[in-house]
Amino acid sequence: MNIILLGPPGAGKGTQASRLQDERGMVQLSTGDMLRAAVKDGTPVGLKAKAIMEAGELVSDEIVSGIIGEALDKLSPETGVIFDGYPRTAAQAESLDAILAARGRKLDHVIELAVDEEALVERITGRFTCGNCGEGYHDTFKQPKQAGVCDACGSTEFKRRPDDNEETVRTRMTEYRAKTAPILPIYKSRHLLKKVDGMAAIDVVTSQIETILG
Ligand code: ADP
Ligand code: ADP
Ligand code: ZN
Repeated sequence: MNIILLGPPGAGKGTQASRLQDERGMVQLSTGDMLRAAVKDGTPVGLKAKAIMEAGELVSDEIVSGIIGEALDKLSPETGVIFDGYPRTAAQAESLDAILAARGRKLDHVIELAVDEEALVERITGRFTCGNCGEGYHDTFKQPKQAGVCDACGSTEFKRRPDDNEETVRTRMTEYRAKTAPILPIYKSRHLLKKVDGMAAIDVVTSQIETILG
């Protein structure tokens, strides 16, 4: 099974993708995570992407489609994939079709996480992750069970993304409206689009997705 989680920054894509990965043995492919790793390692891709990401703009279609193809080539053909944060433009959606077809894969579902825009700034500015295992948290909506200790791995190191500030979030939302939202009708016309209520509690969103996946 190959699915896309689609939604604006802070919609809950990463949170849900990581749950599906744990529960279903699927693999989460997050272009955001891959780009952040490239920036950290100072690779040629990272050097190109760093300033663009800090500004909240979109990295080029060629770069992200390239890293998605490379990531898929590392997986066995039977492994199910959750695309998190990709595609984000019509050109990327078209590339993804070709990338999947070339590997004998096809798209099964495109799941839209529908959220109120006003909620997103709060979601993003309160977001933090475990510095060791990457588990996601939120100041208000998902605190570690024991303050300052990661539920998943026990680490006490947490981090916040440099682009998770209010100003950059506004740019990212504008990018989403202008470039990413227009791909929803494309998937709708192909009968792949399923909408879930991304404003519901994290567990409720997960069960809505589970119902769609069957
Ligand atoms: P995305 O990957 O779409 O940018 P995340 O999964 O990182 O979004 O979620 C953004 C923030 O909101 C995180 O801090 C996460 O813990 C929190 N969050 C995710 N889903 C929900 C939800 N349904 N209700 C409340 N907070 C949520
Ligand atoms: P969020 O979880 O808040 O939606 P991501 O982690 O997916 O954010 O992406 C962070 C940044 O990485 C984006 O603002 C953009 O600069 C870059 N990026 C990630 N995925 C893509 C993509 N598919 N196309 C272009 N840029 C991307
Ligand atoms: Zn951890």
